Amino acid sequence: MEWLKEEIKELKDKGLYRELRTLSTPQGKKIVINGKELINFSSNDYLGLAQNCSKECFEKWGTGSGASRLVCGNFEIHEELEEKLAEIKKTESSLLFSSGYMANVGVISILAKEGDLILSDELNHASLIDGCRLSKAKKIVYPHCNVETLELILSKVRKKYRRCFIVTDTVFSMDGDIAPLKELFKLKNEYDAVLILDDAHGTGVVGWSTLDLFDLEPDEKTIIIGTLGKALGTFGAFVCGSKLLREYLINKCRTFIFTTALPPAIACQTLKNLKKVPERMRKLQKNIQFFKNLTEINSQSAIFPLLVKTPEEAVKLSQKLYQKGFFVPAIRPPTVKQSRLRITITSEHTEEEMELLWNNIKSH
Ligand SMILES: *Cc1c(COP(=O)(O)O)cnc(C)c1O
Repeated sequence: MEWLKEEIKELKDKGLYRELRTLSTPQGKKIVINGKELINFSSNDYLGLAQNCSKECFEKWGTGSGASRLVCGNFEIHEELEEKLAEIKKTESSLLFSSGYMANVGVISILAKEGDLILSDELNHASLIDGCRLSKAKKIVYPHCNVETLELILSKVRKKYRRCFIVTDTVFSMDGDIAPLKELFKLKNEYDAVLILDDAHGTGVVGWSTLDLFDLEPDEKTIIIGTLGKALGTFGAFVCGSKLLREYLINKCRTFIFTTALPPAIACQTLKNLKKVPERMRKLQKNIQFFKNLTEINSQSAIFPLLVKTPEEAVKLSQKLYQKGFFVPAIRPPTVKQSRLRITITSEHTEEEMELLWNNIKSH
């Protein structure tokens, strides 16, 4: 197994070696790593809901679900949450999955088949990419958010394929920018395509749904996937779409069928968290605006990329901030092309904390 060592050494030489950091506190604005208290600017717990724990949910439902949804792991509380999520996303129905990764991989790979075409934004999340890789459809990656090129591709090749899927993040996870959803909707209609949207970083951040920002309503050819593990503060994921889609996925989607159901207590806790979303979202929006004005970093979400030249520089700056009591991780290739610090703002940060962070970055 010497080759493992060799590949790890290669990573170390390139400044791309990764290590786990261990928290001794729960997720939150203040965390402790190696005995050091830090203000956390790295979490996707955008609304500070991850620490919520309702005794009622866990006493009623326990911790395990005991089986897959299709065996005996489907509980009333799952379906109650699914109805709520469909309402939020303005779709006919929704289906819970055990994680966003599994939802993306399962949905894309089962819908897009041989003879079909997938068009995928070059900055899509790894789970969307892996879903495309598992599919037997033809895949074309289009330049980031470039609708002109996308249209050119569609006009040239759409006719050669039976069905067509356009796949994109709504809010991009490493840059914080938003996909041109109005134009993508138009192309979906013009070229008879299905639009698959990953709303992981939009849900509960820019609104209940990123489509709301554009006054768009999903139709039967719009599929919205989201995670419960980010702004909603728990774990698991959902796929929103038509009733027909739900029925199909229950029958065909391997990452839905062959896995243990989401714990019912988690569904219960998610329903409780949803009640807190509107107020927290307003606070988050205020903080995002404040941080945007302060830093002049161009972002349309809670994700603020601070680009640097090299992986080493990203690591050095992250370490310096760590010494000063801030946790901001360095994000490097292969996660992104250009190294950066990825700063995330939550509803729980104070203006003082954001200013303090920025002063420390500027004095670098
Ligand atoms: C986090 C994330 C996922 C995966 O969701 P999990 O529930 O964490 O597995 C999928 N897509 C995007 C864009 C994400 O940021």
